[in-house]
Amino acid sequence: MARSHAEWKQLAAELKIEGRAFINGEYRDAAEGKRFDCVNPANGAKLAEIAHCGEAEVEAAVKAARRAFESGVWSELAPLKRAAVLKRFAALIREHADELSLLETLDVGKPIGDTTAVDVPASAYCVEWFAEAIDKVGGEVVPVDPKLVGLVTREPIGVVAAVVPWNFPILMASWKFGPALAAGNAVIVKPSEKSPLTAIRIAALAKQAGIPDGIFQVLPGAGDVGRLLALHMDVDCVAFTGSTNVGKLIAGYAAQSNLKRAWLELGGKSPNIILPDCPDLARAARAAASGIFYNMGEVCTAGSRVLVHKDIKERFLEEFKKAAAGFFPGDPLDPATSMGAIVDDIQYRKVLNYIDKGLSEGANLLLGGKAVHTDKGLFIEPTAFDCPSDDLTICREEIFGPVLSVITFSELDDAIRIANDTSYGLAAAVWTSNVSTAHQVSRRLRAGTVWVNCYDEGGDMNFPFGGYKQSGNGRDKSLHALEKYTELKSTLIKL
Ligand code: NAP
Ligand code: MG
Repeated sequence: MARSHAEWKQLAAELKIEGRAFINGEYRDAAEGKRFDCVNPANGAKLAEIAHCGEAEVEAAVKAARRAFESGVWSELAPLKRAAVLKRFAALIREHADELSLLETLDVGKPIGDTTAVDVPASAYCVEWFAEAIDKVGGEVVPVDPKLVGLVTREPIGVVAAVVPWNFPILMASWKFGPALAAGNAVIVKPSEKSPLTAIRIAALAKQAGIPDGIFQVLPGAGDVGRLLALHMDVDCVAFTGSTNVGKLIAGYAAQSNLKRAWLELGGKSPNIILPDCPDLARAARAAASGIFYNMGEVCTAGSRVLVHKDIKERFLEEFKKAAAGFFPGDPLDPATSMGAIVDDIQYRKVLNYIDKGLSEGANLLLGGKAVHTDKGLFIEPTAFDCPSDDLTICREEIFGPVLSVITFSELDDAIRIANDTSYGLAAAVWTSNVSTAHQVSRRLRAGTVWVNCYDEGGDMNFPFGGYKQSGNGRDKSLHALEKYTELKSTLIKL
């Protein structure tokens, strides 16, 4: 049953929060009791003290992971049994959905309506989906010289470090550990220092589900934990989601150390193209609004650039303003809230700074543009700019906040050129009533996901998710994600 605002506040007040690292099957403090504060961005209140892991914890976790992996307790478990354990893990995430949603909401400021409807159920679904794949995806017997038998098999890669961001903490972690565990690896999760709570909490659920000690570990800390893991000679793979700048560092750490596999899911500046034959402008406007204001714009695929044809611009903007009125910051614990707080003070100032840049570089403010002053909370109005050219900083850099840049075009070729004129290539969308145009534009857009007549659709696990160009390499979700966490082996048997 849906809970009321008062009930969530009551639950939040009673919540016991675990802040320790999870190493080799148990919760532990960091060496010398080093800790950092975890703060609720909606009111500035301290939520918990979190173990500040460093070199000692990284060493202990990597050792435990290596030992557990080599022992075969997980990697050599019968597929059916490994699947059963992971399904139990998914079920436990669902059983604790209220608690996990609450932790996520308090930690990063997301509306409780979103964490209960999206983040937590989508994580359980991800773990369950990869569990179900375990005993269904096999190897190949390939055609070779008749005097040979040729087998192509996939084996787990070994110790996988998952370094993840704060915008969808439990979900981005699940997109890594779901397939990595399913493939038989030992996983060390490094949550962002801005959002460690759900990763820490589910470690106990992983153990309860039957995941052996050392196979699922969580090391909260700052960026140096991620660096130490990515540089570690005994880590076989680093699966990273985060900014393009840090992604480049991660690729460098892999190169400097053991050439571990480095999978990078990075930033975006995704274009949403509205053509004059858009089938439904009101629907396009609603999708554009949620494409940039959902999760306070802290979304890697945020539709942060709307490219609209000059003939329909006025009507589109009218509809867009109506749709944007459905988003306004409020208490994240209120189920009616559509927008929560910005994750922390650094991000908050960064977004406000981009708004100032938009104004000073000559963009025309269409709506919003200000901080919302509440009791110590970090809230920003849904904001949109009409941009005279796509050279403005706000048209080029990833803001990762509720700020839309609207760019006007008159020819389709210009729209495509502008859409692709970015170092990113994560997602894109086009609105048209013409099937041929839809396919042609989709083919010309250099992006890992293209939406036609929708934006941000597709909770289904079947779609690979990831970027072209500097939005990264490799894909999360889908059976293709399993490949990232395996090595391919050819076995040739002479008869
Ligand atoms: P970030 O600053 O790059 O941090 C990501 C993770 O890397 C965090 O756990 C961070 O730890 C860690 N880290 C920081 N410096 C590091 C270093 N030198 N070496 C190793 N690890 C390091 O990104 P963010 O601000 O958390 O997340 C926002 C970014 O993620 C945006 O660019 C967004 O587009 C991208 N994103 C991409 C996807 C996708 O699937 N493509 C999905 C979601 C988000 P600390 O927090 O402790 O610094
Ligand atoms: Mg936090």
